[in-house]
Amino acid sequence: MMTAVVLHEADDMRVERWPVPEPGEGEVLLKVNVASICMTDVKVLHRRLQGQPDGPFIMGHEYAGTVAALGPGVDEFQVGDRVAVEVHKGCERCENCVKGWYTSCLNYGNLAKGHRAKGLTCDGGFAEYAVNHVNTLYKLPDSVSLEQACMVTTAASPLWAIDLMGGYVAGETVLVQGPGPIGLLAVQLLKALGAERVILSGTRDERLAIGRKLGADVVVNVHRENLPRRVAEATGGRGADSVLECAGGPTSMQEALECVKRGGRIGVVAWYAGPVEVDMNLAVRSNVRIYAARGEGGMNSGRSLSLMSAGKLDADSIITHRMPLAQVHEAFRTYVDRVDNALKVVLQVQ
Ligand SMILES: [Zn+2]
Ligand SMILES: [Zn+2]
Repeated sequence: MMTAVVLHEADDMRVERWPVPEPGEGEVLLKVNVASICMTDVKVLHRRLQGQPDGPFIMGHEYAGTVAALGPGVDEFQVGDRVAVEVHKGCERCENCVKGWYTSCLNYGNLAKGHRAKGLTCDGGFAEYAVNHVNTLYKLPDSVSLEQACMVTTAASPLWAIDLMGGYVAGETVLVQGPGPIGLLAVQLLKALGAERVILSGTRDERLAIGRKLGADVVVNVHRENLPRRVAEATGGRGADSVLECAGGPTSMQEALECVKRGGRIGVVAWYAGPVEVDMNLAVRSNVRIYAARGEGGMNSGRSLSLMSAGKLDADSIITHRMPLAQVHEAFRTYVDRVDNALKVVLQVQ
C-alpha cells in the first residue's frame, strides 16, 4: 500500500492509503519524488474538468520520480533512472495521435483505447507511486533536479503553442500576457529561441519583477498602463509579431487582438473561467492567425527538458513553496490564495 491524494466528491480531497499500481505492457512503476500543483489541478479538485473519472481517483499531473520497476517488454529504461513525465499518452491509433497531437487525441479519456491523461482522466502522481507509459518519460540529465523536472511539462505547454504557431522566433517581438508560472517559463523559452524583444504584461508587480529577472525586456502592469499603447510604442506602431496569451482574464484575448500586428499570430495557452467576448473583426481585418494549444503536445516536454538542462529555463525562480504530501490541503490553499506571493507550490513526496 502507499499514501496518495485521492479525490472523492468535488472539493473532497483525502490523503489515504491506496494500493501500489502495477505497470502493464510498455509501462514502468515510478517512485514519485516530487509533484507540483497547477491551475488544472484546482479545476480537477472542483470536478470541473471534462473527462474526469466519476469515482475516487489519484490527483496530480506534474510530477517527477525514479523508475522502481519495469512492466513487460520495457527495455528503454532501467530501475533507478530519474525521469520527468508528461501528462498525456495518446491512444496511438487515431489520426491526431499519429500527427503528434496526442493532447487532443480523438479518443481523449478513453482508457480502453489506451489514452491516458495522468491525474486528469485516470490516476495521477500525487502519490508515492505511479505508473507511466515509456512514451511519457524523459530521462533526466545529472544537471536537472527532480524538483526542476516537475516544470518540464509546464514549460512544454507554451512551447507546444510556439510550435503550433510555426516555431522559429528569432528576431521577433513577442507579447506574453500573464506572469504566472506558464508565462514566466514562456518568457524564457522565447528568449532561448532568439526573440529580439519580449514584452510581459500582468497585474502583479512582484511577478513582473521576476519576469524581468528571467529575461523580459519590457514589463507592463495593465492596472496602471495601457497595454496596446505600450506595445505600439515598443514596436514603432506596428504591434507585436506574435502574442502568447497565458493570462486567461476576461479581457485578455481582446487585448491580444489589440496588440498583435497585422498578419501576426496569437498562441492561446490560458484557460478561461467562462466564455469571453472579443471583437473578431480585429482578427479578420488584419489576417491574424490564432492557435489554441492544449497541454504539452508534439513531444515538447523533451525539448523543454533539453532547454532546462542547457541552463536556459530557470525553474528555481518559479518554485516558491515546498510542502510534504500530507500537507496537500495547505499546499492548495497557498497556491490558490497566492499566499506569500506563491507561484509554484511543490509537494515533496519522498
Ligand atoms: Zn499543469
Ligand atoms: Zn489518439
